[in-house]
This record gives sequence, structure tokens and C-alpha cells, in this order.
Amino acid sequence: MTLVAITYHEDFGARGFSVLKERIRPSFEKLMRSRLVDGKEVQVFRARPAPLELVESCHTAAHMMNMKDDPYRDVAMLSAGSVMMAAEMVAKGEARRAFAYTGTAGHHASRGSCWGFCYFNDVAITIGHLRAMGLQRFLIVDVDPHFGDGTRDFFADDADVFHINMHSGKDEVHDPQRNNYDIGLSFGAKDDLFLSALKSALDLAADFDFQMAFVIFGHDSHQDDYGGFDLTFEAYPMMSRMILDAVEERGLVFVLSGGSCVHVAEQVIPDVIAVLAERYPA
Ligand SMILES: [Zn+2]
Repeated sequence: MTLVAITYHEDFGARGFSVLKERIRPSFEKLMRSRLVDGKEVQVFRARPAPLELVESCHTAAHMMNMKDDPYRDVAMLSAGSVMMAAEMVAKGEARRAFAYTGTAGHHASRGSCWGFCYFNDVAITIGHLRAMGLQRFLIVDVDPHFGDGTRDFFADDADVFHINMHSGKDEVHDPQRNNYDIGLSFGAKDDLFLSALKSALDLAADFDFQMAFVIFGHDSHQDDYGGFDLTFEAYPMMSRMILDAVEERGLVFVLSGGSCVHVAEQVIPDVIAVLAERYPA
């Protein structure tokens, strides 16, 4: 069995959202030059677009109409398809863990609207698909420093989705009835604060019996990147290890979210995949 499946498509770098796309190809090439991708335990799979009917079932007709002629529509469909393919492989036992590259992000896409480089909610669409396959309960750990408002729109009232939403604002919501947790770290959170808050949030999820976990992985949290946290390179493997320990033997899918710095992506993406492959440091 594949230990880590990586879903990728060259269109993410060629046609992805302008702010996000420059990091794609260099980080993927760096990954391919490493010895991590061995074609056996760690393999790359070419992403396919998400089925239109599935995306339509998750978003409103008005939103689908607004997206109809959007220049990023096709790459957003492919991004959702990348996440879906990654999660499906894990759900079927073809891979233990996965890392899904994307060309647009998803966590600011609500059912009927979107903003912030997001068009379709890749993780919500994927959960819809997994539920049709029989899975029910999911953990979402959103470590992108921007508030995951679109994901919350989908799952606010759904207690079968445990949503940890780390962000650089101040809002601190703990709603155990509906399993919604906003962790507001304020602007400029450093490694220690971020990692200890993440640990506390994962401890809250320890009694939640989920079948698969998604990490909405924005490296715009790095101090050189554009988001509101102030993390160093050391935080990323530590964060990944902490999540892996919390998820244990269950399925785990990292979903690429915000971030534009090429040198950050070139380091943190291979580092995260090395942890998922249990080969860190590579
Ligand atoms: Zn972000």
C-alpha cells in the first residue's frame, strides 16, 4: 500500500490563482528531486476535475452561475478534484495518508459565495463525496491563519464535523455542542504559541470519534509569507508530527491552502510530506 499519495496537476502552477501559483512548480520540483518520492511508498497521482454534479450539490445554483465564466473556474474544479482524489484513495485503503496540491484555495468558499482566492470548497465537496461512500465523521484542522468562514458555513450545525479553526484574529469560540472551535491567536503568533494552542485544540478532539482528518494547510502562516502568523520553518514538521500523533491510524489528508512564497513552499511542503511518510528528517 502507498504510505503517502500526492495529488498534483501542472495546471495548478500554470493556471492557478495569481497569488498562489508561483510556489507550485518550484516546490513540486524540489519534492521530486528529493529521495522522498520513490514510486512505491510515496507516489504522485495526476489530479482530475471534481464531477460537476457533486460540486453543484454543494454550492447554490446562484453561486454556480456566478462561477460559470470565471477564469479560475476550471482550475478550481481541478483543485476540488485533487482533494477528492486524495481523500478517496485514503478512504479506500489505497493510501494511508495524502497531500493534495491545489491551484485555488477552498476555505473561504461558502455554499452561496466566495472570496480570498477560493471558488469551491474543496474539503466540503470531498466530505459530501465521502459521506456518499459511507463515512460520516470528520476532523478538520484549519491551520491557515485566515478565518475559515466558508468551511464554517458548511459545517456550523454539523456536530459530525469537528472544526478546529486557527486564525490570526481574536475570536475565541468553543462550542462543544456543535464541535466548532475558533482559536484566535492574534496577529504575529510565534511557533510556541501556535504549537501549544494547536496541541490544546487537538486534545479537545481526542474524544471525538472521527474517521478521517483534513488539514487545511496554508503556509501563509510563515513569517516570510503574507498571512498573520509569524512561524519559522521549524514549526511545520512539529505541527505535522503533532497532528499525525492525534490522528493515529485514521486517514489523514493535507490540503494545500494559502501561501505565495516560493522559498517557503520549497521547504515546508517536502518537510510535511516527509513527516507523513515517517521519514523526517529526510
Ligand atoms: Zn490564508
